[in-house]
Amino acid sequence: MNKPHAHSPHRGLLLMVVAPSGVGKTSLTRRLVADHNDLHLSISATTRDPRPGEHDGRDYHFVTKDKFKAMIDQDAFLEWAEVYGNYYGSPRPPIMEALERGESALFDIDFQGAMKVHAQAKEDSVLVYILPPSLAEMSRRLHTRSQDSEEVIHRRLSRAKDEVADWERFDYVILNEDFDRAYADLAHIYHAERLKRARNPWIGDLVGDLLKEEI
Ligand code: 5GP
Repeated sequence: MNKPHAHSPHRGLLLMVVAPSGVGKTSLTRRLVADHNDLHLSISATTRDPRPGEHDGRDYHFVTKDKFKAMIDQDAFLEWAEVYGNYYGSPRPPIMEALERGESALFDIDFQGAMKVHAQAKEDSVLVYILPPSLAEMSRRLHTRSQDSEEVIHRRLSRAKDEVADWERFDYVILNEDFDRAYADLAHIYHAERLKRARNPWIGDLVGDLLKEEI
């Protein structure tokens, strides 16, 4: 699936995947990154505590509020936001380095973060929203994973409702009813976006050569 192409894209993209919690976004994005070695997950910094099973540097960079504020002052974030009382931000350097290599970055961030990145990099960003089949199903999944209190679940559901109403701001909307189907949709989006003419300047050179050929 991920053989290097003879003419790889010269311009990477910023793939932003947004979904309410409990819609399976993490499984989808982790698999997309595992299947594509030219796509790098942007590991966010956060001031929230690690959940059981989460590792520093893999799931998040877990930092103190002071460290986070210092990073804001150093302009070290492409975007940052406060979500449910904690700070989250996308560190700028690894993303810029990936783009410079012609590779891409995937952002597992919230709605406001995705819109902020998009506002700064309209040509390079691709916005994908993942829809749950219903709010009832989303509520069921949140209860099954039992990570959140009733109050937090209620907040997540009402926030999802507000976000879903803004679905037209996204380039693509995927329904995650069946994981394999949703994954195939996400992978197809990534592949097609990489093939866009504007991301493949080598095509101009090739066409130039073709036009010079005698027939
Ligand atoms: P959680 O605490 O459940 O891991 O994440 C809470 C919310 O913060 C999720 O919607 C997640 O997508 C969002 N988030 C994670 N990293 C970032 C980031 O770097 N920037 C922004 N704006 N949101 C983030």
